[in-house]
Amino acid sequence: MDCLFCAIAAGSIPADKVYEDELCCVFRDIDPKAPVHLLAIPREHIAGASAVDEKSAPLAGHLMAAVAKAAKNEGLTSYRVVSNCGPDAGQTVNHLHYHILGGRELSWPPG
Ligand code: 5GP
Ligand code: ZN
Repeated sequence: MDCLFCAIAAGSIPADKVYEDELCCVFRDIDPKAPVHLLAIPREHIAGASAVDEKSAPLAGHLMAAVAKAAKNEGLTSYRVVSNCGPDAGQTVNHLHYHILGGRELSWPPG
């Protein structure tokens, strides 16, 4: 399958990885929207947060634990975790990813 984030997880496309384990990895977004902008992805291909089901829920939970670890390692105390689901919400890569955004004040609600 031709998937950018599968390739990044496998290491065939380089990325600035800040956390890795057997199930997932966290790396810096190439086009950061905040001083700290990380992406947390599972190694397994899941089409997005809207595709998480009972079978993949433990992996999605593991990913959330990796999000918390990576944010802590970056020294973030306030940050936002978001997953865009579908084109109208801004999803451009169809591989589950949580954005971790921090290092500045974040407005709420988002636009
Ligand atoms: P989405 O738009 O699907 O919510 O998030 C995809 C994110 O992937 C975007 O924030 C975009 O900047 C990032 N991105 C796209 N291509 C690459 C890449 O080749 N490397 C890295 N590190 N990030 C990427
Ligand atoms: Zn993929």
